[in-house]
Amino acid sequence: MTDQNQLRSRLLDLDNRSYKAYKGIQGRYEFDDFSLSIDRVQGDPFAAPSQLRVFVPPEIAQFPPQLYQSPSRRVALEDYLTRQFSQVARKLSERRGTGKSGTIAIARVGQEILSRTTVLLHDGEVEARFTVGLPARGRSILGRQAATMLCEVIPEIVETALLFEALDADKIQTWVETNEDADFLRSELKKQNLVAFVANNAILPRKSGVDDRPLAANAVPFQSPPELEVSFTCPNGGKITGMGIPPGVTLIVGGGYHGKSTLLRGIEVGVYNHIPGDGREFVITNPDAVKIRAEDGRSIVGTNISPFINHLPQNRSTEKFSTTNASGSTSQAANIIEALEAGAQVLLLDEDTSATNFMIRDRRMQQLIAKEKEPITPFIDKIPQLYSEYGVSTILVMGGSGDYFDVADTVIALDNFSPYEVTAKAKEIAEQYKSDRAPEGGSSFGDITPRIPKPDGIDPSQGKKAVKLKVRDVDEVRFGGEDIDLSAVEQIVDPNQLRAIASALVYAKTAYIDSKRPLPDILDRVMADITAQGLDVLSRYPEGNFAQFRRFELAAALNRLRTLDVV
Ligand code: ADP
Ligand code: MG
Repeated sequence: MTDQNQLRSRLLDLDNRSYKAYKGIQGRYEFDDFSLSIDRVQGDPFAAPSQLRVFVPPEIAQFPPQLYQSPSRRVALEDYLTRQFSQVARKLSERRGTGKSGTIAIARVGQEILSRTTVLLHDGEVEARFTVGLPARGRSILGRQAATMLCEVIPEIVETALLFEALDADKIQTWVETNEDADFLRSELKKQNLVAFVANNAILPRKSGVDDRPLAANAVPFQSPPELEVSFTCPNGGKITGMGIPPGVTLIVGGGYHGKSTLLRGIEVGVYNHIPGDGREFVITNPDAVKIRAEDGRSIVGTNISPFINHLPQNRSTEKFSTTNASGSTSQAANIIEALEAGAQVLLLDEDTSATNFMIRDRRMQQLIAKEKEPITPFIDKIPQLYSEYGVSTILVMGGSGDYFDVADTVIALDNFSPYEVTAKAKEIAEQYKSDRAPEGGSSFGDITPRIPKPDGIDPSQGKKAVKLKVRDVDEVRFGGEDIDLSAVEQIVDPNQLRAIASALVYAKTAYIDSKRPLPDILDRVMADITAQGLDVLSRYPEGNFAQFRRFELAAALNRLRTLDVV
């Protein structure tokens, strides 16, 4: 008897038995066209569903090697197959009893193409990781339903979602070529000395604040100002033209509601690739660009914020600044310093989410409140040093203060969602109407001091469980007994990134955090291990819910852990 028939008859035998008896089906089964691995069986129909994998051998899956030979193409194909699997599984899922009985699902994905652990290609073999709600009525096994799900529905999903012959070859080709071109553009940015690129005809606005798909009606396609226009020749799409943002300080100005924040958001998420049709496929940003914002209430542990904040009341040190409840300005200062500590090359700021007193201090305020009485050195006085001393560029949305004209290298004005290059005009105005500010930035930016985390402050355990992690959307992760609030870390775009980050914290603690290694070194090592061994290095079990994240967001999670302790 084949494994498939054996599994079927075992499931039929389990009919009406107590739910726990499902545990016995764990194992690997050879079906006609693929292997099915039942890795973890849920304890009851309401618990997190069971974890399964299928492995489809190359001679059955039949994907032409050109679709997965480069990492860009492989990641795109894996992404495409994840979406196919998800679609088919949703269609074939039905209610088959109590609780989650009958569901078949793969991790949800958004508009980004990210390396994930949902579908993995190994030399043409396709592995898919998904969950199944094993069916029951109350706590009694529904054996017949289970047999249908595992022995009929899953093979149907494999046949319709994971085999090349069943899929739209043109669409897959577009997927892999688009992703490859996006990666190419990102690698070309550095060579052409640019920090970001926004292709002509890009669609930046989204459907709504809670729907990340492109705005369909009345979206004004992006068109570069002629002065900033650059072109690239992509390996697949050929010549592509758009706006190149040079290094240094770039201001985005313009009236309210003219599209400033939308442009910046496009640039923020341009550190990731997007699916064909998203509108931002060729909005490409330096991969080390970090969004900065004010985040009052966050905790800060031992961060040297003295480049921005000094002489606090009660003589509190700002060279190793800690607080359980940061103000708008101190949180924004810490966010910048911590991004620099982690290796940020570009900072992205929006006045909408910045602390005013961190951004500006005009001539009149300088007269009223003496420098000695103001702990904050405003960002405007530090931006030029950031670039001249550390080579860190800034892109800043600033419709509210023309004082920034003095420090800008490039000024882009948005008018009715269309960008214009207005640098010369802004400089002329700055010349004509002097701000008469006294510069407050001192002779240099100041030190960026890498911190050395201690392992004790990182405790993922809760009760009897050595590791207890739970992710809520992209905003929060329960780490042992602590909630880490990441709602202000705006470049986490996918809950599966946060799942991987939580596991990476545990991994970093186990492997590298030892009260000796500085944080940048720890980040280097964790990211290098992921590059070499894949996201699976973060978990002892085959985890289907990981998506690639950046070192900056890993650091951000660690920095917001309220129990963090540093040497
Ligand atoms: P600002 O930051 O300048 O105040 P926003 O970027 O918040 O403006 O944009 C205001 C509104 O206009 C948003 O609802 C946004 O979705 C929409 N919008 C932005 N860019 C475009 C565009 N290119 N085409 C159509 N609508 C847009
Ligand atoms: Mg805005």
